Amino acid sequence: MNSPMTRNSPMKYIGAHVSAAGGVENAPVNAAAIGATAFGLFTRNQRQWNPKPLEKKNIDAFRKNCEINGFGPGQILPHDSYLINLGHPEKEGLEKSRNAFLDEMQRCELLGIDRLNFHPGSHLNKIPEEKCLRIIAESINIALEKTTGVTAVIENTAGQGSNLGHTFEQIGFIIDLVDDKQRVGVCIDTCHAFSAGYNLKTEEGFFDVFNAFENTVGFKYLRGMHLNDSKKERGTRVDRHNSLGEGTLGMEPFRRIMSDDRFNHMPLILETPDESRWKDEIELLKKMQ
Ligand SMILES: [Zn+2]
Ligand SMILES: [Zn+2]
Repeated sequence: MNSPMTRNSPMKYIGAHVSAAGGVENAPVNAAAIGATAFGLFTRNQRQWNPKPLEKKNIDAFRKNCEINGFGPGQILPHDSYLINLGHPEKEGLEKSRNAFLDEMQRCELLGIDRLNFHPGSHLNKIPEEKCLRIIAESINIALEKTTGVTAVIENTAGQGSNLGHTFEQIGFIIDLVDDKQRVGVCIDTCHAFSAGYNLKTEEGFFDVFNAFENTVGFKYLRGMHLNDSKKERGTRVDRHNSLGEGTLGMEPFRRIMSDDRFNHMPLILETPDESRWKDEIELLKKMQ
C-alpha cells in the first residue's frame, strides 16, 4: 500500500538559517545555541561578487564546531548568493554567475558540506522560459563537472518577477537535462510553493501538492525543506516569509510535514523573519514529530 503519511518519525533535522558573521565557524555554534539539529548559512557575503577566499583556520574551526555540536553533512543546507542568476540571458552576467556559483560549490567542498541550495534563475524578460531553463541546466552541468561530492539543490521559487522554478514542471525540466542525476536535488520552500499557487494549506491540498511533486519531480530528489509561513495569499507570487502559524499558511502544513516520513533525514530550515522566535519554533516543530 502506498500510504501518503506515516507516523513515528524521529529522524527530522530541524534548524534555521543562522548567521555566519565573524566567520563560517560561528554558524554551527549559533545553530546549537537555539537547539537546532540542522542549519542553513551563507558561506560568503551574499551581496558581494568577489568575497575573500575561506582561510584554513576558518575551515578547520567550522569542521570542528560541526563535529562538537553533532552536525553531519546531511544536516547543513547552505544558500548561495542572491546575486547569482544561472539562467542569465546575457553572456557577461551568465559568466559572472557561473563563476560565483562554482566558488560557492568549492566552498562547500572545502567545508565538507554535501549540498548547496540555490534559486534556479531569471529570464529577465529577454529570452523565452524554456531557453532560460536550458541555460540553468547547462550552468549546473558545468559546476558539477568541476566539483565532487556536492549536490546542486534547486529551490522552488514564488515566481516573483521573471524568476523561474515556481512550478514542479520547470524544476523537473531542469533535472532532466542535468547529466549527473546523483548530484542534483530539490529544496521545497513552503512559503514559495504557496505563493506560487500550490495549496499546502488544506489537508487535501497538501496531499495533492506532494503527489504532484512525486509525479513530476520525485521525492528521491528532495534534499531539504525551507519551513516558512507566508505573509501573502496563495497565488500572489510574492515572496514574503512569516513566522510559523502567523501567516496565511497557518500551523497545520508544518504539523503535516513533521509527521510525514518523506521529510526525514534532510535539513528542514526555518527562514522565518523573527530570529528571536527560532528557538521556540524549533522546539514546537520537534514536538510535532
Ligand atoms: Zn527559501
Ligand atoms: Zn523566500
